[in-house]
Amino acid sequence: MKIASVKTHLLDYGLDTAFESASMRFERRQHCLVEITCDDGTVGWGECLGPAQANAAVVKTYATGMIGTDPLANEKLWLTLYNRLRDQGQRGLSVTALSGIDIALWDIKGKHYGAPICELLGARYRDSVRAYATGSFRRDGVDRVQDVAEEVSGYAKEGFHGVKIKIGFDVEEDLRVIAAVRESIGPDRRLMIDANHGYDLLEALEVGRRAAAFGIDWFEEPVLPEQIGTYRAVREGQPLPVASGENWHGRYAMLEPLQTRAIDICQPDICAVGGFTEIRKVADLAAIHGVRLVPHVWGTAVCIAASLQFMASLAPNPPRREPIEPIMEFDRTRNPFRQAVVTTPLEHVNGVVRIPDGPGLGIDIDRQALADYALKEQQA
Ligand code: CA
Repeated sequence: MKIASVKTHLLDYGLDTAFESASMRFERRQHCLVEITCDDGTVGWGECLGPAQANAAVVKTYATGMIGTDPLANEKLWLTLYNRLRDQGQRGLSVTALSGIDIALWDIKGKHYGAPICELLGARYRDSVRAYATGSFRRDGVDRVQDVAEEVSGYAKEGFHGVKIKIGFDVEEDLRVIAAVRESIGPDRRLMIDANHGYDLLEALEVGRRAAAFGIDWFEEPVLPEQIGTYRAVREGQPLPVASGENWHGRYAMLEPLQTRAIDICQPDICAVGGFTEIRKVADLAAIHGVRLVPHVWGTAVCIAASLQFMASLAPNPPRREPIEPIMEFDRTRNPFRQAVVTTPLEHVNGVVRIPDGPGLGIDIDRQALADYALKEQQA
């Protein structure tokens, strides 16, 4: 079995209403899928987190050395590709692009052996995961406090056991949003706050101290991802558990925050941290250092499927009669191709997502949807 081709699919959709996190404005939804085809006809799918066209360019760089190699020797291939860009890579696009390739290779491996990826990773510990809703981005021309409170009340009605909201814009307004959201979802649902590294240290400390009264599960990306020492200061200076990891790519990037206890919750994204091959190592590192793992998920059904397979394989930590179950981030923002790219959507039912049990990722791609949402050249 040999790799015959490596392709990318750039998906694009122009939003009617733009939305913003503290660090990014979304006018369009754009994602990069990876398709690897083997000489026996087996096809694997992956996805890269981040700028779609930039990821596609790096995938293309990797692809030249992949044709004719054995897709089942996927960890060997991971190392070969990582080494190719190591000197100027190590994190960022060189690893996010490699993530999409790695996921597609695991999909091929699963299809080749007729097993879901979680079984190849060691075990299928669970058939479903509870999801929490991510939304509440800032929209143009609305009262943010009221807008977000209404939005999250919808997630509560849909059955989500928790919601994660966007802060990091302005300390006083963010605290008003947090108060309104707690009021809106009631006292029993989990509430997480995500600053998308919008604060400096003093603002993060202020928000953490004052938000604690509203029962917050974790405080995500309070400060810039480069500032590990500042993370430690946030963790030491306010009472909320600190979470981060979506912008730390590869095990080396994760090591310092884990070793120095800069975070309480580690959030690797399988489409950014290096695919299945690398997220397993990060999960081990987090477990060794006693840091809870809650994967970051932001993508199409390909990314959701990969995250579900990984979560299915996570051993209970610590093992006990009623273990702590992993929870799944479930993006509720507008993205019409998120589920359209697969023939059977990976939707939630009452806040619970079933984990596919078919070979590989357990999904079938809808090629018509790829064509319908393909990035047009003039938008490139
Ligand atoms: Ca986040």
